[in-house]
Amino acid sequence: MWGFSCPEKKIYLTFDDGPLPEVTEWVLDFLDKEKLQATFFCLGKHVVAHPSIFERIKSYGHATGNHTFAHEHGLKVSKDTYLNSIEKANEHIQSTLFRPPYGRMPRSYDRHLNNYSIVMWTWLSYDFDPSVSVEKIMKSARDIRNGDILVFHDNEKSFERLKILLPQVVSMLKEKGFSFETIPSL
Ligand SMILES: [Zn+2]
Repeated sequence: MWGFSCPEKKIYLTFDDGPLPEVTEWVLDFLDKEKLQATFFCLGKHVVAHPSIFERIKSYGHATGNHTFAHEHGLKVSKDTYLNSIEKANEHIQSTLFRPPYGRMPRSYDRHLNNYSIVMWTWLSYDFDPSVSVEKIMKSARDIRNGDILVFHDNEKSFERLKILLPQVVSMLKEKGFSFETIPSL
């Protein structure tokens, strides 16, 4: 899915690539302070390395999703490698939500992933890309509408920009009266 069609002012915050110390912990503290729920697409290898942060995500009422074990690119590894990575991650994450890294995988894999809801996005924060200015991102954030799925990254590469962008985007959306929902499981 690339978003939801809904009449209410609801949006879906999502975070990819964690859980990691410091970055994910900062996000959790921020969401807690703002009293918001979000969905975290986790890498299996990071869940294995940082189980207590993964438990904290769940205990705060956020949703979790599978983002493969080690961030494999669906067009660059074999089908077996890719599907095994998802299964291996699922042993630790146990979610029916899946988001392909880079948003790319062969369409034919869909039928192997019937047990998952494949969750893409409608608004990309570009928190990972310093060549896109914060001003430009905030301008595009004005167009966020009902049912949009927003992507941020709780990884080290994005952390400095995430700390600037996330509070600004959330504050704008709260002022506009949006509520923040978790992506429903299958
Ligand atoms: Zn990712």
